[in-house]
Amino acid sequence: MDYKELFAKFFPYKSYRAGQLKAIRFLFEAFRNGRIALLSSPCGTGKSVSVLTAYMAVRSLGLSKRLLVLTRTRNQLEIYCREARRISQFSSEKVMVVPLTGRKHMCPKVSFENIKDVPYGDFLRYCKSLRSRSLNEKCTFYETTFSGRRPSWSALKALDKLEMFGVSTPHEVFKLCADLGLCPYEVSKLLLKKADVIVGSYNYLFMDAVRESIFTKAFIHLENIICVVDEAHSLPNYLTELTTETISTVSLERASRECERYSSNAAEYLRSLLTAVKRLGQELQVQPDEVKLLEGSYLEDVLSDSLNVSRYNGLSELARFIQEEGEAIRSMKISEGLPPISYTSRVGIFLEHLIESEHPNFVKYIEGFTFRDGSLNYRIGLRLLDPSLIASVLNDVYAVTLMSGTLWDMDYYVEVLDLDKNRVDRLELPYPFPEENRAIFVDATVTTKFTKRCEEEWVKIAEHIKILRRAIEGAMAFFFPSYEVMNAVKQYCGDLETPVIYEDEDTSFEDVYGFLKANSNPTVMAVARGKVSEGVDFSDEVGSLLSSVVIVGLPYPKKTELQDALTKYFVEKFGEKGYEYANLNPCVNALAQAAGRLIRRPEDKGMIVIMDSRTTGRIAEKLPEDWRRNMRVFRKIENLVKAVKSFQDF
Ligand code: SF4
Repeated sequence: MDYKELFAKFFPYKSYRAGQLKAIRFLFEAFRNGRIALLSSPCGTGKSVSVLTAYMAVRSLGLSKRLLVLTRTRNQLEIYCREARRISQFSSEKVMVVPLTGRKHMCPKVSFENIKDVPYGDFLRYCKSLRSRSLNEKCTFYETTFSGRRPSWSALKALDKLEMFGVSTPHEVFKLCADLGLCPYEVSKLLLKKADVIVGSYNYLFMDAVRESIFTKAFIHLENIICVVDEAHSLPNYLTELTTETISTVSLERASRECERYSSNAAEYLRSLLTAVKRLGQELQVQPDEVKLLEGSYLEDVLSDSLNVSRYNGLSELARFIQEEGEAIRSMKISEGLPPISYTSRVGIFLEHLIESEHPNFVKYIEGFTFRDGSLNYRIGLRLLDPSLIASVLNDVYAVTLMSGTLWDMDYYVEVLDLDKNRVDRLELPYPFPEENRAIFVDATVTTKFTKRCEEEWVKIAEHIKILRRAIEGAMAFFFPSYEVMNAVKQYCGDLETPVIYEDEDTSFEDVYGFLKANSNPTVMAVARGKVSEGVDFSDEVGSLLSSVVIVGLPYPKKTELQDALTKYFVEKFGEKGYEYANLNPCVNALAQAAGRLIRRPEDKGMIVIMDSRTTGRIAEKLPEDWRRNMRVFRKIENLVKAVKSFQDF
């Protein structure tokens, strides 16, 4: 078979980028043979169009599987839709693509009702109550979409149109449906039955309830889909977050006040829970940003004792009761024209998850944090240590591809996600841009190592930041391992003599992008694993807005009892590699992602500076060949400045 000829029928561009043809062939074979493919393909290698070309090629050979693409951001989802449209127009091959963002993103009510800032969980419950008509209010969009249990005449008309288009972007689906008074999410769900390609978030595969509800109605079976997980470097972390449930004393206090205001019988229980959690935090002397593990069923015991009920049946009944009361409060709030938020319902849901978390891999903990008013508060939580328990669904899928620009240590993903080793194939594409346009420097005179953290080190780091800022022209982004470290260093930075933005909890990507565009020589101070260090693109039509990215200290996961529990668990499971998998790999991932904001296309030029002496140790072994080849280590800041200047002059 002439593969090049086959791919040329679908590939809609004049030429392939470096390594792209190899990637398409690799994906094609994986899709065709039901393999689990791991693809590390740097930014700028055209991953989305490669996936779609490979899929169209296997499909043209008669393989009747559907493609499920899972993305992390809406922007990535839109890219897939645009590329699919390009392929469809170029090849004249009809393909039905259904984009599926979250229910709230697709809800037209959000734009004109006071529900924009309602947390996602509250929105889902509100929407469910509207659909089941358990509130006085109805959702007119939903009512117009269905006539009884069948799609209405208007919905059928919208479905016909969308089917005729073949490929629509989320915005187009939204507009078409909203203009007809229909619910875009429900219409998209109806369209799934006809879909060849579904593009949605990770939740559609990894959340059991979501998967079952979507897949069953659309007759989607795991053994009949090809699944592509984009930005898969974040999958282990995403899966851990997915199983994390928390409730704070702030929420308990709000729930308690809410119950009093609406004269709910749950008020007394919520007060007892609040007192119990506060007392627990005080007895264990939990400090802000400190996490303490709660062994076995200690947390359940503390809570059930405070409520004077038995640990399982009593707590379980109470969880249900609190949820019911919470939903009643939500509907009272709605009838008063208030946002449909119920803190009480959240508490009930947390208790329910706590009771269900009997698996030995769940750990429970209490964490201290400082609230906006400066008061010390606590958060109780539970988390599943082992992401493979959720990732196991991947082994049931016909063909899987995990891909990312930084899927660097593939053994880590195979082992931590427990992928079926007999089905795994790997491809790592080289860095596609001119290496001389990217300098990688290491300042080996400072560190943010936990045991070395002290005022003297912060002063030195701040001094080096000031020196680098004076030496480097253009926009710079500094990424710290945590807000804690950033704030510690910030107090010694003084005036950097350039416009500076410090990321905080409320900073958005748009804030930072706008700041970079509006200022000359701007400085961004942000955190690794934050909102502006991963999955965002700081470039415009001319090129990258950044001239350098500085990693201020290796972004190891924060040292807490929870992190220690993960390390212990991984060491027991993976032996020697366990420590690396729990600590080094997440650190390298965060480093790679932050550094990845710098160069986005071949013409971009810039510097990556890593300010941490540990970079020359075991971390270096985890870096790709091109990084190790180009990395220059400096033990004197003056020499680093000279290298910076000569790179800029070149
Ligand atoms: S049914 Fe659709 S339109 Fe109505 S609230 Fe839910 S998501 Fe929004």
